Amino acid sequence: MLGTAFAAGTLGHAYLFSGEEGVGKFEAAFELALALLCTGGAAAPCRTCVSCQKALRNAHPDFHVIVPAALDKEHKASDGKLSPAGWDFLSQNVRERIEAPYRRPSHAGVPAIPVEWIKEVNHAILRGAVEGSRTVAIIAGVDLMNKESANAMLKTLEEPPKNTFIILTTNMPQSILPTIASRCQVVRFGLVSVEHIKEALHQVAGMAEPGAEIERAAQYAMGSVSRALSLLGSDQTESLAEARGLLNACCAGDWPAVSQRIDTLSRADGYDAHTRLFMNLLYLVRNGILRNEGRSSTYIDESDGVAAASLPPDVRRVERLCAACQDALSALSSNGNCGIIYVNFAITVMEICDVEKQQAG
Ligand SMILES: [Zn+2]
Repeated sequence: MLGTAFAAGTLGHAYLFSGEEGVGKFEAAFELALALLCTGGAAAPCRTCVSCQKALRNAHPDFHVIVPAALDKEHKASDGKLSPAGWDFLSQNVRERIEAPYRRPSHAGVPAIPVEWIKEVNHAILRGAVEGSRTVAIIAGVDLMNKESANAMLKTLEEPPKNTFIILTTNMPQSILPTIASRCQVVRFGLVSVEHIKEALHQVAGMAEPGAEIERAAQYAMGSVSRALSLLGSDQTESLAEARGLLNACCAGDWPAVSQRIDTLSRADGYDAHTRLFMNLLYLVRNGILRNEGRSSTYIDESDGVAAASLPPDVRRVERLCAACQDALSALSSNGNCGIIYVNFAITVMEICDVEKQQAG
């Protein structure tokens, strides 16, 4: 669709690429940006012309990429503004993202998009193209913009100068201000098939033979290449066991066990660990659906059935369980208090399972 619009010269000025994490939104946005800036003259970006080379190094004056970053104290000056080290850190984040678009960034704190960065890009957009005729901006993870950043962005989205192309990406479309979403053409990205994930792992991870490890990661990944990659890179056993334990205790309505687990879990450090846990909870719930539907061929690990067996068979309730996981992930990314997020999640799950038991009784 984008290729056709590009060839016909009918591309819109603002797009919102929406879909799960790791399904190729950033890569598609980057490819489109390269094509818009390439001087090679072909439909696909050549990757060799000066323009492509600069864009690939994040050094093109008409190409601006913003990715969420978790700033530290050292990245801010005494007046609270970004320090030179802060700006360096931001561009380093962008370069890493361009080099490995599917590699899940590892953040020490909660990632955000500083308003100064948005203002800087706004300024460059208003100034107009320096080298070519077009200005392109990619803003990844727009759901992580705070109100101030979103408002700054809004002005540019309302009246973008001619030959400006802005591509926003998000895996939390529900967290985006309607005023932003309504000014963009929304492009939905679906999940990646297991076959395509294996192919991507083959390319990205440079694995020669599709071995058992790749097979397992692709099956576990729930349609996300970056999740498959992080599964390959790290041992999920512990996080999966914790997720399974919490889900089992909730489904059984065992409040003392639940509260003890939450107490331990919420003490864990780092946004990544909590995100991984809720991703694994989501995985267990989805795996439970597959099992309940008897689609055992897609069912990977028999041990994941412990929680799945006690899940309510009603599809709508399982959907609510999935929604509870997604709400928790969303709350985590907006810097919510971990303890409260776990308690809310547990109460919701216990309610959903309890209704089921009462009906059965
Ligand atoms: Zn080129």
